[in-house]
Amino acid sequence: MTGTSDERTVTIRLTNTASGRKEIFRPIDPERVRMYVCGPTVYDYAHIGNARPAVVFDLLFRLLRHAFGADHVVYARNITDIDDKIIARANETGEPIEEITARFTRVYHEDMAALNVLAPTIEPHATRHIAEMIAMIERLIARDCAYVAQGHVLFAVSHLADYGALSHRSRDEMIAGARVEVAPWKRDPADFVLWKPSTPDQPGWESPWGRGRPGWHLECSAMIETHLGHPIDIHGGGQDLVFPHHENERAQSCCAFGDGFVQTWVHNGYVVSGGEKMSKSLGNFFTVHELLSEFPGEAIRLALMSAHYRQPLDMTRDLLRDSRRRLDRWYRLVREVAGDEEAIPEEVKDALADDLNTPKAIAALEALARPERASALKAGAQFLGLLLTDPHDWLKGTPRHGDPGIEEIERLIAERAEARRARDFARADAIRDRLTAMGIRLLDRPDGTTEWERTG
Ligand SMILES: [Zn+2]
Repeated sequence: MTGTSDERTVTIRLTNTASGRKEIFRPIDPERVRMYVCGPTVYDYAHIGNARPAVVFDLLFRLLRHAFGADHVVYARNITDIDDKIIARANETGEPIEEITARFTRVYHEDMAALNVLAPTIEPHATRHIAEMIAMIERLIARDCAYVAQGHVLFAVSHLADYGALSHRSRDEMIAGARVEVAPWKRDPADFVLWKPSTPDQPGWESPWGRGRPGWHLECSAMIETHLGHPIDIHGGGQDLVFPHHENERAQSCCAFGDGFVQTWVHNGYVVSGGEKMSKSLGNFFTVHELLSEFPGEAIRLALMSAHYRQPLDMTRDLLRDSRRRLDRWYRLVREVAGDEEAIPEEVKDALADDLNTPKAIAALEALARPERASALKAGAQFLGLLLTDPHDWLKGTPRHGDPGIEEIERLIAERAEARRARDFARADAIRDRLTAMGIRLLDRPDGTTEWERTG
């Protein structure tokens, strides 16, 4: 993607959680557009709800790169590799924390790559920023926004007059919503932890307040300051992070570095399944990893794009099958498109620029899904991170249980070609019928070769 002056005129609109309104996005510095998204806590397979922000903000990243030039966008998505859930998992399984986090970081990278999610520009790990976190706490204490009590350091919410402004919550709602631990050392029940002590068997780092570890909210604030500075253009994440996580990030960063931490807050809605919240007990809980054994990553990506990002998304196997069939159809159309594609169709670009309206973008692609517009379909789809597989490979498909493998199919096709050369047409037709019954469609080319695809 090149950044010609013409392409830079695209107007991006985003719904800002802080104002509750759709606003025209104007970066603070168009030469260095900065976006931060809260990444995974790496102790287990990511469930499909965690994949949604990865895909939503990947689309925004692609759009920003297109609008401002790939070299002018910095996207940081962190890895949370210290957390009480990780400690609990290590205690349960006996596997060292570093092994758990390294393994699930690798799995996360593989799974997101399968969904055509681009790697972020920067991927900071929390455990590699402990010194910056300690420095930030010292700064908050010096500014009287934080206090030390019983080996803990707490943020004093009373020091931020508009605490609650991001999540639009009253003080009582915040106390109820945070399920705050009522601890005798807190000055106010809404105060939250910046640093907490570690027991000898828990991971910890030396600090001015004794051996301990950071609170989760603080991790993101310190990594944002380190890599992106203050203020930043866009902070994203799932809707469940608005409170307390983002409210608290905002409180810390504003107290430490001044007002105006984030220009535009963007939050995606929940993923449900069969209209219900996903849960292991209902049997409608999918990890990305298990879905990838049943469906191609692009089908999962397209399914995640089927609802507007601010709306709930109902993830079902029917939706995934429909998404796969739609891609099959598009791939058949673009199979013969050779060489470099044409410009990104304006209607696809405009839909994405209009608050990431992916249902509208998909409808625009569908309108291009005709033989004479196949190269525009390809350009538009690739802009959205779709149709990136070789069409011939895609249409050969991944065999499902009981399906013939590629070797067997190609052996039968070779036998049929042999029979045709020997003018044994009865045998050639019998082999074709056998392949048809196996769900394989043959496409004989004028040059005498035969292409094939799965019809299932
Ligand atoms: Zn965060």
